Amino acid sequence: MHKIDIDLVNMTLDVMKYAIDRISVTEPKIGIPQKAEDLMALVGETITEKGIGGEVAFNLWKEHLMKANVSIDHPRHLAFVPASPTRAAIMFDLVTSASSIHGAYWMEGAGGIFCENEAMKWIVSLTGLPKGAFGVFTSGGTAANLSAIVTAREYWRSLNDQNKVEKGLIITSIGAHSSIKAMAKVVDVDVLLVDTEDRLEAKALQNTIDNLTSHQSQRLFAIVATGGTTNAGIIDDLDGIAVICKKEQLWLHVDAAYGGGALVADSVRHLFNGIEKADSITIDPHKWMFSPYDCGAVIYKNPELAKKAHSQEGSYLDIFKDEGAHGFNPSDYQIQLTRRVRGLPLWFSLATHGTDRYKVAIERGLELAQIAGTLIQEKSHVELVREPSLSCVLYRRIGWKPEDYTHWTYENHKKGFALVTPTKWKKGSTYETVSRFCFINPDTTEKDIEMILDSMI
Ligand SMILES: *Cc1c(COP(=O)(O)O)cnc(C)c1O
Repeated sequence: MHKIDIDLVNMTLDVMKYAIDRISVTEPKIGIPQKAEDLMALVGETITEKGIGGEVAFNLWKEHLMKANVSIDHPRHLAFVPASPTRAAIMFDLVTSASSIHGAYWMEGAGGIFCENEAMKWIVSLTGLPKGAFGVFTSGGTAANLSAIVTAREYWRSLNDQNKVEKGLIITSIGAHSSIKAMAKVVDVDVLLVDTEDRLEAKALQNTIDNLTSHQSQRLFAIVATGGTTNAGIIDDLDGIAVICKKEQLWLHVDAAYGGGALVADSVRHLFNGIEKADSITIDPHKWMFSPYDCGAVIYKNPELAKKAHSQEGSYLDIFKDEGAHGFNPSDYQIQLTRRVRGLPLWFSLATHGTDRYKVAIERGLELAQIAGTLIQEKSHVELVREPSLSCVLYRRIGWKPEDYTHWTYENHKKGFALVTPTKWKKGSTYETVSRFCFINPDTTEKDIEMILDSMI
């Protein structure tokens, strides 16, 4: 038996108290990044031969280091894609760590993977994919997109010998997330971008396909459509694109990393029609399904194809005679082997609250975007760049130049008031700097939005 160390007990209580305080706070400090040199000057060397001790290290964290992080769940953090993990999910994130579960194989993580799969069943049900479709939790949308592209590419290569020696080609639009281009690089496939940041329409896609050289046509194996662009919340014409993919025998991947949460919202579900025809889908629970980082998901219409692409020969698993040892191995369906059971916090939160609460919370994000749209139309110093889409709102401060937006963002952040960042929106062939809201946190209020807009006067 290990001797129970009283210091360790006290430390554990301190850490738990800190966690409870952080989970309970409704308006956490936004936090401001600092240069590494400045942080070093504040905390000094922390990794030493003898150790500085938990209490000292923890105090440095609380006093200095934590303050140099932006709290992504602040109700006036409307930049990038914010997050708003539920308390239940965060608590179970602690449990996930404390339980020391290896989440690659059923043999080691059956209980945890069972829970993940229950949560996954719900996510898959939102997509309307046919029976047999299933998915797995990944570290995020990037890893999910990578896992899907690899699966699609391996499937394409298996079709004939010529494909095995060709470099593949995928088509997406410039509204697609940067990770599509980055992961295509990893997989070493070319990407052709349809020149629109707006909704990718079937017609534009068909035109692009029709204008390919015959060699390009032969190399083309997948289309990546977006189910809620990160910049503007735009959903491509999934139904029309699916028809083309079927006709041209192309893999359809729908990247709904940000927008996927909105599948649960009755008010906008129809915008995703066609997603049920996808071959693979990315959805990030750590974006709009209130999971803590990091938790993405990749879903396949035919998981067997993913298994062919990703399974790492686990022959040493065969030695387990126990029937209970054989089941779903998450490592077979995505790029990672050793993994955290990162879907477990989502499972606990879903089990605790029920899926109806998710519906309400996501509808609230959509409603906040509509509220912001109305406020922007009412005020004379701002105007909408386009109608709010999902929970994204692009608007301009009339008369402002790019540097005015930058200064405004900086001032609001420095005061600890809000983090709202400008973005660029493509207008014809030029890019305009505009302001952007992305709502995730259901605790954001109309008053918050009003205050932010008024800070632009
Ligand atoms: C955020 C996002 C990604 C990347 O997801 P990570 O979880 O950050 O890896 C991919 N696609 C879209 C549409 C996104 O919004």
